[in-house]
Amino acid sequence: MTAMNLKPGAVHREALRIAGERVRHDRVIEVAYPYTGEVIATVPKATLADVRQAYSAARAYKPRLTRYERYKILMRAGEIIASRLDEISRVITLESGLSRKDSLYEVGRASDVLLFAANQALVDDGQVFSCDLTHHGKSRKVYTLREPLQGVITAITPFNHPLNQVIHKVAPAVATNNRMVLKPSEKTPLSAFVLADILYEAGLPPPMLSVITGDPKEIADEMLTNPDVDMITFTGGVSIGKYIAGKAVYKRQVLELGGNDPIIVMDDADIEEAATLAASGSYKNSGQRCTAIKRMLVHESVADRFVELLVQKTKSLRHGDPMDPAVDVGTVIDEEAARHFESVVNEALAAGARLLHGNVRQGACYSPTVLDRVDPEMTVVKHETFGPVSPVIRFRDIDEAIRISNGTAYGLSSSVCTNRLDYITRFIGELNVGSVNVREVPGYRLELTPFGGIKDSGLGYKEGVLEAMKSFTNTKTYSLPW
Ligand code: NAD
Repeated sequence: MTAMNLKPGAVHREALRIAGERVRHDRVIEVAYPYTGEVIATVPKATLADVRQAYSAARAYKPRLTRYERYKILMRAGEIIASRLDEISRVITLESGLSRKDSLYEVGRASDVLLFAANQALVDDGQVFSCDLTHHGKSRKVYTLREPLQGVITAITPFNHPLNQVIHKVAPAVATNNRMVLKPSEKTPLSAFVLADILYEAGLPPPMLSVITGDPKEIADEMLTNPDVDMITFTGGVSIGKYIAGKAVYKRQVLELGGNDPIIVMDDADIEEAATLAASGSYKNSGQRCTAIKRMLVHESVADRFVELLVQKTKSLRHGDPMDPAVDVGTVIDEEAARHFESVVNEALAAGARLLHGNVRQGACYSPTVLDRVDPEMTVVKHETFGPVSPVIRFRDIDEAIRISNGTAYGLSSSVCTNRLDYITRFIGELNVGSVNVREVPGYRLELTPFGGIKDSGLGYKEGVLEAMKSFTNTKTYSLPW
């Protein structure tokens, strides 16, 4: 077992994992702890030759793990993660600035993903069709089976959940006997190496997983166009997602992109519950979740009470030092991001919004912020604000709520606070999103269940263990005279 014991004052030097082999370079990317700016580690800048080597090693290897072997590897990896909870949570916090509360939660989610993927590996997903169903039918049967892709899967992940984004791609790949080359975000690359080593230790044949870090300008195109690549699974922002859509021609693509998710609070809602959901949906993970609540649409008849409770709940959160176990909200990813939130909030204030709490920045710390009287056209809500900001928009009736909700380029998830079946029916039918959660945060899901957005939030293909396993396989049919 190789623990990643990051220590203040010492710089950990990480290596690529090319089919399990550790490769180091003098050219490196520095990884800094956002709270102090201190460099805690370096990761190599892979060369094009490294990338090509990773794909050819993967392509040359044909995985033959039985369902039981895949199950055992994934379960064993889950056990190792559970036994190293504290260490892995520290790695996540140090590379991202997320609070220990958030990083511990993330490691727990990773165990869930492994549990579901392991169990799903045991499930035979074949179907049987009798062929004597019509007058020109025959006494035969068509059978289906799912095969791993012929080529290699490229996985590219964002910074916001350094472990969870990665494991949602890697675990379904193992469960389906695929080979994957993974490039985690250069901002938070360390957890991906921890995970790869855990999977190797759990028995994964190394050619089934390589981890590459580097400058996307140098290596990304190769990862999208290499002839050994059959599929790209990408989670990240809209602009890079659309770049991939144009570049990776005739490769399967799953693109999970940005979000601008609303919570919609209706006149009959339990306002205490709605404000609790709003605060947790907005600030968890420092507001850096694709499904974080980024707009709060509140019926004007209950808005004053909602806002009062939201401010109360926001004030009760502790923010600051991510390593302090009592802190709820750590830093955002870097100072540049924090400055961006400050500037879009200031722009909204100059245009007439009211600041009720927060908007205090120090380095990469940006305090949880509540804005009232926000106009749907203001930048802070028109575009994705990927940080701990709660902008309240007041509306008159359900038609206006639906129009505002659908009025951005995004369509990921949503939260609806009401008990009225007529409202719920309209929201489920008319919100242009991938998910509608009634009296829950937009991010609520099981790691198993389908998840993903439409419009600029993604191509409509879903993630979640089950859907990812489908997207990582080809259906083959065969027919027999019995
Ligand atoms: P990003 O788009 O900046 O980066 C994502 C990844 O793309 C990184 O690994 C980066 O190195 C890589 N990349 C950079 N240039 C590339 C290129 N030319 N070709 C291929 N890859 C390239 O995203 P981010 O800032 O790391 O993450 C935040 C974004 O991710 C937000 O918009 C958030 O909403 C989104 N996100 C979406 C989901 C989802 O499931 N829909 C989940 C989490 C985050």
